[in-house]
Amino acid sequence: MAFKQFDRVPNHYAGAVIQRIKDFRQDMGKRSLAPTVLTVGELEVLVPRHFGFCFGVERAIHMAFSALERHPERQINLLSEIIHNPLVNDDLEQRGIRFIHDSDGQRRIEESEIRAEDVVLIPAFGTTLEIEQSLQRSGIDTTTQEFREHFDTTCPFVSKVWDRGEELGQEGYTIVIHGKFRHEETQATHSHTKEHGKTLVVLDRDEAQQVADFIAGKMSLEDFHEHFSGKWSEGFDPETDLQRVAVVNQTTMLAEETKQVARILRDALSSRFGESDLAHHFADTNDTLCYATNWNQNATKALLDAEPDLAVIVGGYNSSNTSHLVEICAQVMPSFLISSADELLSRERIRHFDLHKKESVESQNWLPEQMPVRIAITSGASCPDVLMNAVFERIADFCGYDAQDIAVGLDRLALHEPLAVG
Ligand code: SF4
Repeated sequence: MAFKQFDRVPNHYAGAVIQRIKDFRQDMGKRSLAPTVLTVGELEVLVPRHFGFCFGVERAIHMAFSALERHPERQINLLSEIIHNPLVNDDLEQRGIRFIHDSDGQRRIEESEIRAEDVVLIPAFGTTLEIEQSLQRSGIDTTTQEFREHFDTTCPFVSKVWDRGEELGQEGYTIVIHGKFRHEETQATHSHTKEHGKTLVVLDRDEAQQVADFIAGKMSLEDFHEHFSGKWSEGFDPETDLQRVAVVNQTTMLAEETKQVARILRDALSSRFGESDLAHHFADTNDTLCYATNWNQNATKALLDAEPDLAVIVGGYNSSNTSHLVEICAQVMPSFLISSADELLSRERIRHFDLHKKESVESQNWLPEQMPVRIAITSGASCPDVLMNAVFERIADFCGYDAQDIAVGLDRLALHEPLAVG
């Protein structure tokens, strides 16, 4: 897939320090995942090789701003958050864009309030066929070339998963979608894929194991229904539709987990039907993760080798890809997911999102008193650099460093490891 560079991602989403780090890495090739080290006095900040806005997000933002510029006289609507970042969504709302659904999927603007002459933008993670039909009832023709080219911001990597699901469904496989059932992208993938075959959504390894247990005859039909009812397409019959399976995923899931989900189902089908007939029962899809998710996850793993004291991850609380970066970091160090620098309340106090409790919490003594300190800072695919920049500056401030100290550090940027040939 060819990548197009976009020149319309507004400058106010950029950050001067982060841009210097990006410029430093630009000509070094992409193969080395060594983090960049920014040393400011006794503060060492590690920035992963890949972080922040991905191709699909840049494209979606570019299309939203283009729509504002090209159609000042038309009401512009977004089906829901264009990406999972509050700063970007608030910015668009302030520029007059209306959101048809809120982030919980509740309708804010009725069909009757949308006029045929309005612009409606589909977000980067796509939408369901049912919502597209609702738009048609409002007079919005989602099938025109203009709509597809200018208003449908669905990332090509997401539609690639739909295409793969369509092919496999037509070949008679049941599509198991590894994803969060309520996530817009999983809903969209489920909606598009079920047109061509049976589908089932599984969240994680535990759920995949339950499906495997059912395939192996270790789980009753009743228990299967109790656990998965509602997470499958109409007409799905676990007894007949789990004999031929293909796994696709929400593009922002943990790559490693998708492989494990596929492996669990593959092994169950192999045990039941025999290895020699496996190709008929299990389609080898590898994973359908997009390159950006892969790069960001691998670059975050590379951070761990540098053994930072803690990690700060910047992104929306409801951003799936960001939450996986937190999970990777949290394996080895205290890790804090924050939506902006405002959550760095003081050198002692931090407000952050607890992934297990699923709520915002406050923690004390998050930043070690003892210097030197080594901190990993990264951001999810939907986070503008300006937010990560502000986080870095506030941490530097807490450690007693000002703009001049940062400027000295920026002149001495380095790699944590020797650079591989890129
Ligand atoms: S994370 Fe990947 S699939 Fe999602 S918008 Fe970005 S490039 Fe597209």
